[in-house]
Amino acid sequence: MVKPVGGECNLRCAYCYYLPKTRLYPHSHFRMDEALLEEFTRQYIAAQRVPEVNFAWQGGEPLLMGSAFYERAVALQRRFRPTGVRITNALQTNGTLLDADWCRFFRQHDFLIGLSLDGPREVHDAYRRDRAGRPTFNRVMEGLAALHEHGVAFNILTTVHAANAHYPLEVYRFLRDEAGARFIQFIPIVERNAAHGCPTTGVSERSVSGAQYGRFLSAIFDEWVRRDVGQVFVQTFDIALAAWMGERPGLCVASPTCGTAMVLEHNGDLYACDHFVEPRYRLGNIAQTPLVELVGCPQQRAFGEAKRATLPQMCRSCPVLFACQGGCPKDRLLQTPQGEPGLNYLCEGYRAFFSHVDAAMRMMAAELRAGQPASNVILRLAEEEVAQQERWARAERNEPCPCGSGRKFKHCHGRTRGSEHADAAL
Ligand code: SF4
Ligand code: SF4
Repeated sequence: MVKPVGGECNLRCAYCYYLPKTRLYPHSHFRMDEALLEEFTRQYIAAQRVPEVNFAWQGGEPLLMGSAFYERAVALQRRFRPTGVRITNALQTNGTLLDADWCRFFRQHDFLIGLSLDGPREVHDAYRRDRAGRPTFNRVMEGLAALHEHGVAFNILTTVHAANAHYPLEVYRFLRDEAGARFIQFIPIVERNAAHGCPTTGVSERSVSGAQYGRFLSAIFDEWVRRDVGQVFVQTFDIALAAWMGERPGLCVASPTCGTAMVLEHNGDLYACDHFVEPRYRLGNIAQTPLVELVGCPQQRAFGEAKRATLPQMCRSCPVLFACQGGCPKDRLLQTPQGEPGLNYLCEGYRAFFSHVDAAMRMMAAELRAGQPASNVILRLAEEEVAQQERWARAERNEPCPCGSGRKFKHCHGRTRGSEHADAAL
């Protein structure tokens, strides 16, 4: 991940963790210079042994760099590209600066744009505001319209926080139906605020709670798995499915170790991770030490391995560890009931969500193993639900409930029907 303007941004989203990082560079003008761009491009491409090399541009707001910078970046990529290697670019933006010129450029060079949008107007504007405190929803939607108009590939990044966590279906349906998103990422906001946070967790009131996050994902999953599999791609669900398939996840949060999500600052400083842009996680500067040396240095290997090594016993014996992996170390703020540190603040939600999706994940994994599309799950679930309805329709009041709860039908799913006929039965 490359931050050509560091953490600089034209907005002031309330939960942003990038802006405070600008204090690390008090005298900087926060613009990557051409010499460093050239050095980085050369080293980054040379360091890879894969047929596709992806550049991920991030901010702050990376469009503040101006289009000439990215034109130069693309030209350098062409210059250093070995034969047979494909180069791709992804760029994460708040969308407020997107216009027809940017979109023409992105379309021409096949950039994949990540657009930050937190849902419908009210919940988006709760925290995503500009420097003057003004809402940004209209400007983001104009940017989105420009992406659509010019046929630019995009995905939507939605943070999940106190203002939208209670509205999972409203948020999901808005992104799917009104924003026209086919690729969606949900990122939980867990914001440490030592001064004003919760006295036990130190987490701000803007943060999503573990329970809320679990309910949010589960509600969206239930809609997605019954109608949208194969049409809409939700990163959390795709990664979970990879875990059920026993495959490597494509995201660090769901991996057993960290270490491959390094971030390059505007001045060439390389850090262990985007969430750990702090002096003690600075690996060095690529103008002084080759990138490939920094990437493989013992400090970075230790950082990566620490994710697994510091798991508390509660995680090690957890039935959903294979999918959860203890979550991101930055969110491991709690103690287990046994008093061990290192439990993820979102644990309750992870546990609930991964348990909730187990049956459907098994179905999708079975379809994929049989060479069938995962979207067959839509039909399987519909068939199952019809069969269940039929079992309920046939069930007698005093029989065990067909749902398998172990209770009598009249005390479970047959409660309504039972009460309708209670007098007659008595
Ligand atoms: S600390 Fe979190 S964000 Fe960073 S690499 Fe590890 S899992 Fe990924
Ligand atoms: S659900 Fe909780 S206990 Fe289980 S692995 Fe995740 S964080 Fe650990």
